[in-house]
Amino acid sequence: VVGEWVEDWLYALRHMEILAIEHEDQPVSYRELAARVASRAAFLEERGVARGERVAVLMTHGLLFAITLHALRYLGAVIVLINARLSLEEMVWQVDDVEARTLLCDEAHEAQRVAISERLAHVRAWRCTVQMEEGARVFIPAPVCLSHVQSIIYTSGTTGRPKGALLTYGNHFASAVASALRLGMLPTDRWLTALPLFHVGGQAVLMRSVIYGTAAVLQDRFDEAAHRARLLRGDITMVSVVAATLQRMMDDEVAFPAALRVVLLGGGPAPVPLLERCIARGVPVVQTYGLTEANSQVATLRPAEVSSRVGSAGQPLMRTNVRIVDGHGECCPPNGVGEIQIKGPTVCAGYWQEKTVRSALAEDGWFHTGDLGYLDSQGYLFVLDRRKDLIISGGENIYPAEVEAVLLSHPSVIEAAVIGRDDARYGQVPVAVLAVHPAYNESALLSFCRERLAGYKVPKHFLVVDRLPRNAAGKLLKREMRLWL
Ligand code: AMP
Ligand code: MG
Ligand code: MG
Repeated sequence: VVGEWVEDWLYALRHMEILAIEHEDQPVSYRELAARVASRAAFLEERGVARGERVAVLMTHGLLFAITLHALRYLGAVIVLINARLSLEEMVWQVDDVEARTLLCDEAHEAQRVAISERLAHVRAWRCTVQMEEGARVFIPAPVCLSHVQSIIYTSGTTGRPKGALLTYGNHFASAVASALRLGMLPTDRWLTALPLFHVGGQAVLMRSVIYGTAAVLQDRFDEAAHRARLLRGDITMVSVVAATLQRMMDDEVAFPAALRVVLLGGGPAPVPLLERCIARGVPVVQTYGLTEANSQVATLRPAEVSSRVGSAGQPLMRTNVRIVDGHGECCPPNGVGEIQIKGPTVCAGYWQEKTVRSALAEDGWFHTGDLGYLDSQGYLFVLDRRKDLIISGGENIYPAEVEAVLLSHPSVIEAAVIGRDDARYGQVPVAVLAVHPAYNESALLSFCRERLAGYKVPKHFLVVDRLPRNAAGKLLKREMRLWL
């Protein structure tokens, strides 16, 4: 609703000595963060960054990213999160597509900064550091409406060309409230993440923490030893992970401290064997289903439901509606598989440059996720797979995530992806792409699969590679792997 004003949360916290951010072991209080943000906002304003302007940001330095994120909010400018793992071509395309006049980079991306400004002469590309700016320490944030766009995030593009999702302040506020209602919130919460901040789940950790007045604990890269060591210090209450990182953290038998309330597992399918291992060890893992266009969480399990609902992504968050729609546009009955469609206050305002987002965001407000799943009779969501990744073999549906989970539960498998290969007889057959330990033996893995999967789901071919291609969010790039077949 236009005209609905939000208090600037960080501004309200600016006198507090409590922890706002811990970045690579460096504590920053709300008072200090607010001073840094104000001084950065004043500096950017002096250099001509204007309200409503889209500013591209290419940074992996967590503290600098946070200062920049909030400074642009103080200015009423729109932050465009550039995925640092993109190729130069892709970065140039996004900065150009979003019509940014300004690009802010950290020192680690100096080469890209120079290269992008050579390619896009009209873009002012500045190098930033965490050092405080000289001069102003006071800056009164521009008022923002809940309907104003806060950020543009190009969806990670595991299929097709990326599109810039327009996330509003209202999306963040609704997400933060709904997440707190689902997972609980304590003033002493410390939310750890090593996920990229330029992805929706990372940015959400920063936005929620200033809305709640709690602390975000940031590590710039996922390093399992550093991550585990930080968790073991005992003060972390929440942590955001993806399956690949959680898998690596579970590789030894260290018990996690009691204060750790939630291990929020999202970003892609959660292999049931991994969930079971976590549950057996008392790790409070909760699965969530989320996406960029819904500003992260859509449905999340309650921590108390973890062991009784293994494999479910939980019920939808407060005020988010989920429906399952079949190929004829009809809503499915409980347990019926169809496309997951969502509606609610966390769904983005649309895509940049697309006045009508009809293909994905219908006029009636239902967003078509392109994911397949079902709701059980109690309204718990089960996510099966991307509709585009579904393999249909001899008329049977194969959800690659299910086969991947079996492959990953074998000790010789490090990474697994299952994709469809065209087949004269069956239409398509499943093929596995694997990264493996030296102990790997194809026939042993094949019989392991045969014991656990219906015949048509057992991969017909195993392709071993060094490393599976993933995007910056850790999602498998099946499009690239299909080219190898
Ligand atoms: P993104 O567009 O990069 O934000 O990624 C969102 C996509 O990740 C969703 O559309 C799903 O395909 C996938 N995803 C997220 N959470 C889950 C989950 N719990 N289970 C399966 N797939 C998921
Ligand atoms: Mg997506
Ligand atoms: Mg995506």
